[in-house]
Amino acid sequence: MKIAFLGLGNMGGPMAANLVKADHEVIGFDLVPEAREAAAAAGVSVVETAAEAVADAEAVITMLPNGQIVLSVYEEIVPAVQREDVLFIDCSTIDVDSARKAADMVREAGHSSIDAPVSGGVVGSEAGTLTFMVGGSEAAVQRAQPLLDVMGRKTVHCGDAGNGQAAKICNNMLLGVQMIAVSEAFVLGEKLGLDPQAFFDVASTSTGRCWALDTNCPVPGPVEGSPANRDFSGGFASGLMLKDLGLAQDAAELAGADTAFGRAARDAYARFAEIDGPKRDFSAIITAIRDGQLN
Ligand code: NAD
Repeated sequence: MKIAFLGLGNMGGPMAANLVKADHEVIGFDLVPEAREAAAAAGVSVVETAAEAVADAEAVITMLPNGQIVLSVYEEIVPAVQREDVLFIDCSTIDVDSARKAADMVREAGHSSIDAPVSGGVVGSEAGTLTFMVGGSEAAVQRAQPLLDVMGRKTVHCGDAGNGQAAKICNNMLLGVQMIAVSEAFVLGEKLGLDPQAFFDVASTSTGRCWALDTNCPVPGPVEGSPANRDFSGGFASGLMLKDLGLAQDAAELAGADTAFGRAARDAYARFAEIDGPKRDFSAIITAIRDGQLN
């Protein structure tokens, strides 16, 4: 298939490379020269503009930073495609409202689209094991499936346009709250004289068990692969968690949902970004909780 790929960053670059490995013809564009060079080295045909990338494409995949950028890129590329019924797949994490506006733009121009944000991070993007949460028509999802199967391992169809984004922000709100709760439990345990390994052994086999504890454990030791063992490098950046918690609160306000703990988590990660910057894994928030810096 001839695929245009726009946004060749940490996530998009490896996703495009996996499509090349599966023998698709990928024409790519990114604003940043380093991203373009890395994609070219992986076999992507890199061009100078987004419009040029999509001109002859049968499918267009975007992996961009936010909803405003996705909408401005769609304004440029939707009129620039030359084939009939092109399939647009937006994998960026963006607000539900922008995702629905993007879908309207594509439908009005006579094409098809899905929103397909991902879970699995850079590791999943490189390994082709992402999970896609998808919003759009059944027909569009079926057309996209072979491409999603190259880049990921699991697809969940969550409903109409925008529902993929809705699932993504609800999941990440849950994860942000979970990580703070797990961190507070470890810190309280430490202050009560409890060995972190002993607490882990209890909680990971008890009712407190969750991903933030048993896979991304915020203290070094109990879980070999967790970012806490390497000074919180790699993993899911706390700045991206803050972004997703912000999207969740914007959506909650618009929908009239009472998400007090999601809001508290958003505020805690905003404060943490001021203290620690946006780069370390989001489990590093335990360091600020331990030092009492979030109050
Ligand atoms: P990134 O900053 O590494 O990549 C984004 C790329 O988009 C950059 O290379 C940037 O130059 C490019 N870009 C920006 N504006 C552009 C434009 N107008 N035209 C073409 N290219 C443009 O970010 P990332 O980590 O790859 O994240 C991409 C998306 O995936 C975000 O929406 C993020 O929330 C989501 N996401 C990231 C992760 C993760 O772990 N990194 C996990 C899940 C979802």
